[in-house]
Amino acid sequence: MPSSPLHILQSVFGYSSFRGPQQAIVEQVIEGGDALVLMPTGGGKSLCYQIPAIVRQGTGIVVSPLIALMQDQVDALHEAGVAAAYLNSSQDNDTQREVERQLMAGELDLLYVAPERLLTPRLLALLERTEVALFAIDEAHCVSQWGHDFRPEYRELAVLHERFPHVPRIALTATADPRTREEIVERLALQQARQFVSSFDRPNIGYRVSLKHNPRTQLMQFLDGHRGESGIVYCLSRKKVDETAAWLADAGFEALPYHAGLDAAVRAKNQQRFLREDGVVMVATVAFGMGIDKPDVRFVAHLDLPRSMEGYYQETGRGGRDGLPAEAWMIYGLADVVTMSQMIAQSESADERKRIERQKLESLLAYAEATRCRRELLLGAFGEPYQGPCGNCDNCVAPPKTWDATVPAQKALSAVYRSGQRYGSGHVIDILRGIDGERVNQLGHDKLTTFGVGADMDEKAWRSVFRQLLAAGLLATDPEGYGTLRLTAASRDVLTGGQRVLLREDARPVRSARRRRDS
Ligand code: ADP
Ligand code: ZN
Repeated sequence: MPSSPLHILQSVFGYSSFRGPQQAIVEQVIEGGDALVLMPTGGGKSLCYQIPAIVRQGTGIVVSPLIALMQDQVDALHEAGVAAAYLNSSQDNDTQREVERQLMAGELDLLYVAPERLLTPRLLALLERTEVALFAIDEAHCVSQWGHDFRPEYRELAVLHERFPHVPRIALTATADPRTREEIVERLALQQARQFVSSFDRPNIGYRVSLKHNPRTQLMQFLDGHRGESGIVYCLSRKKVDETAAWLADAGFEALPYHAGLDAAVRAKNQQRFLREDGVVMVATVAFGMGIDKPDVRFVAHLDLPRSMEGYYQETGRGGRDGLPAEAWMIYGLADVVTMSQMIAQSESADERKRIERQKLESLLAYAEATRCRRELLLGAFGEPYQGPCGNCDNCVAPPKTWDATVPAQKALSAVYRSGQRYGSGHVIDILRGIDGERVNQLGHDKLTTFGVGADMDEKAWRSVFRQLLAAGLLATDPEGYGTLRLTAASRDVLTGGQRVLLREDARPVRSARRRRDS
């Protein structure tokens, strides 16, 4: 009598009950149906294919791009007494032949393979001569050309459906946006698959975003509230990772760097220390984190803007997997936006791709500048309706004050327009404040009607206005990435007085010294 799924969950994996949709998914696959599983990281995707692979006759084939993690996964399964193995290029020939022998002898419940390996004529032919329990396609968003983990080989996985029409397939991902979901269905021929979409809300993660003014002091203040805890600090560049890690180590933190420029051995060692020790702060680029399963990460800090809302969600989602409170903290400034725009512009990507990247940056900005519940915006970005207040983000805990910035916004937009939509915020702010600088004079911008109309606000206040106008889509940066500002279709309504502009209090006009003397 074959064991029931629940019995296997308890006796093999040691858990008392299924979580969320796990049971329904497991049953669907055991019965031979296809499934598409969208579940946040840490939701428990692995069991969704591991248990059916054990229950069904034959070997479950797991396709995963994460070669580095196969060993860990297989080790964990061995510990639970499951017959599992992996095939990848890191193994010598003898080992590979032995795994193939085990497969053909029907000795394996689970076999992990990289997609390029699975697609070799040799392995496909072997599989046709053995019993396959199921195909699990992990990290299925890798089929998406617009995602950051695009893997061309993933697109060829549709061949599984053609060559093994009776073998159930289960595709899994933690990427939730509707466009990616559609692409997975189409590219992997999963039209018949039952879709299991979990909520992506992570209620135990508290979200906080602040303006960057003195990054190190701000980070230190944040980390002081997390002494002795494990966490991740994300930076954009390798150099900044190295510098920040060294600086934090000097300040008495167990801080380690992680980025792709480090020696593989150093990387592996730092990762192991993060996983095994308590209270290690990993300072890292986005190279760190995919597949990392550490339950007690108490905070994820972003010193720079992430690449997109998906990236932000994934990165912050590495916190609080044990369900206990975790903090997602980010600081950002106008310079970050310019840097990001430049990175997009200077990349080798096609124009269509760049356009999408710019959209992604814009939604990230809107999130950063939001005055309402951040969870609402975050989940909204993945098409999940959520009604705030959540009670666990900075905006819900202390609703930001707003002020009517319609007039300053009009001045700003008009200064951008009158100077020819060819300058960055620094220069336009000089015009507004009536700064008689060399550049302003040279260009004759001291003759503009907008020259000096904004002298009643200081530079900081103006920077905040520009940042928020960008975030609201009332201004845009040039597609070439020079950081120059131009109007958008929406700017018009503000200029004509048809739209009021409410901005966060951090842009409250601080009367500048000059003006105060005048008035
Ligand atoms: P994902 O692949 O979705 O990120 P995992 O499959 O790695 O998630 O599972 C995340 C964590 O949750 C693991 O530590 C796993 O052992 C645990 N887990 C999964 N399912 C259950 C369950 N039904 N009961 C208790 N813990 C579970
Ligand atoms: Zn909230």
